[in-house]
Amino acid sequence: MAPKDDKSKDEEFQEQLQNMLKHANVKFMFGPPQAEPTSTADEHNGAQSPDDDAERVLARIREFNLKPREIRDFLDRFVISQNEAKKVLSVAICDHYNHVRQCIADPDLHERDYAKQNILLLGPTGVGKTYLVRCLARLIGVPFVKADATKFSETGYVGYDVEDTVRDLVRMADGNHELAQYGIVYIDEIDKIASKSTQGVRDVSGRGVQVNLLKLMEETDVNCVSQTDILGQLQAVMSMQAGKGQGQRSINTRHMLFIVSGAFGKLAEQIRRRLGKTQIGFGKGEGAEQTDDATYLRQLQSADLMEYGFEPEFVGRLPIRVAYEHLSVDDLEAILLHSEGSILAQYRLDFEGYDLSFRMTPEAVREVARLAYDEKTGARGLMTVLERVFRGFKFELPSTAIREFEVNADTVANPASVLGDLLAANHEAQVELLGEEVGRFAARFQEEYGLDLRFTPAATGALVDESLNSGKTIRSLCDERFHDYPYGLRLVARNTSRDTFSITKDAVLNPEKALSKWVTESYGDGSGPSD
Ligand code: ADP
Repeated sequence: MAPKDDKSKDEEFQEQLQNMLKHANVKFMFGPPQAEPTSTADEHNGAQSPDDDAERVLARIREFNLKPREIRDFLDRFVISQNEAKKVLSVAICDHYNHVRQCIADPDLHERDYAKQNILLLGPTGVGKTYLVRCLARLIGVPFVKADATKFSETGYVGYDVEDTVRDLVRMADGNHELAQYGIVYIDEIDKIASKSTQGVRDVSGRGVQVNLLKLMEETDVNCVSQTDILGQLQAVMSMQAGKGQGQRSINTRHMLFIVSGAFGKLAEQIRRRLGKTQIGFGKGEGAEQTDDATYLRQLQSADLMEYGFEPEFVGRLPIRVAYEHLSVDDLEAILLHSEGSILAQYRLDFEGYDLSFRMTPEAVREVARLAYDEKTGARGLMTVLERVFRGFKFELPSTAIREFEVNADTVANPASVLGDLLAANHEAQVELLGEEVGRFAARFQEEYGLDLRFTPAATGALVDESLNSGKTIRSLCDERFHDYPYGLRLVARNTSRDTFSITKDAVLNPEKALSKWVTESYGDGSGPSD
């Protein structure tokens, strides 16, 4: 079940995507171009420079021709459930980049009226809000930045400024301003900057941040160097003085797509009150409360957002609103089994790094999903549970002879004891492996110092026993025990031309005594070194 080759996830992702949309005759690049150094050698080898990558993405934007269904199909491979969100965002992305394409073809077009359709995502943590947008950004190849609205301060003097997100986009685009202006800015925890606190007191700074954000979402020029970035300002002045010109000093946000998101927990309650408690009825089964939230959020109206504490202008700039579904146990199970970006796939890759693979029984998958559900952190719960299950295995197994193992429901429930049993069952093979490790230490010693250490079976046995009892690796035990040997034995070799030493169990138990005996003897008369 492990991935069959050692390609990186991104490469695999890119290849599959290229196959899928081959008919669109478009080549794909993922994420922002990497800041790889360009060298003439690279150019001769035909390797891609960041500029080439950026040019490819720009060409793709100029010829943008994806259809909403194609995008949705692509998202289906990674994001489980969230069908409404996938549809809405597929359409929004197509609209946005179609408009960008039209504006590039006809620069006068943007002067005409066009209401940019920024997007508001509502839903609890870990249900795929960011993941879905990240997948979209990778699909198109545009730079993507994510920021937390709670980090923004109104002025920027005491924190992160909303405009910093745009500057981050330039960084993500490897300094390519043209590419950065088509990027996606994602701002999470937007519900935390509602300007009305729960006590009904207006929070001025939240309002200020909304106003600043509004400007960005609409259209504004953002200075490439922040006013509070003294170093950046100095560098700009210095490069001007060095005759390098002013470079591009600002970047326009007209073609950036802004997506904001938040859990909006209290908003669901507010809508529930507006609708009247009894309008929607649910059984009191598992997860009913959270399911209720999503159902109410889907009935969101602009007035609800204003009452929640958002300025009318701000609400008006976010015409596209999507309420994300709460993820059920079935969804979490499907993520483990079917999402190409699943955390389980990541674990497989991690283990493969040690030449290890595992099989997971259907019961184990179900159990992980069930425990993750209880965490109440959406798909993030899967990470928590899997970390708990695999923690000991990841630590112990790479140093053992075990190359594959099974994860069943019992492993999920009692990972430590199952691991203990597995190690015990593997005892003989482990003894053999540790014995080989002793041989490897001797081989390294020979290679490094030209001296042949011959461990007797009893000596090897003593080291293996100690390694098993102490949990220390053979390598660290030998390094510890024989750390004076390179110097001491070279002295002996110089005095006697002897280069082979038999290491007995006594030498393992008392290495210094054995060494000093050899050294003393090497001076012939037993009187020890004269100098
Ligand atoms: P949030 O909704 O808080 O933005 P994320 O989108 O960052 O949460 O989700 C965290 C991680 O959980 C993602 O990186 C992804 O691996 C996984 N995940 C979340 N929701 C889904 C989903 N619907 N389908 C597949 N994986 C998901």
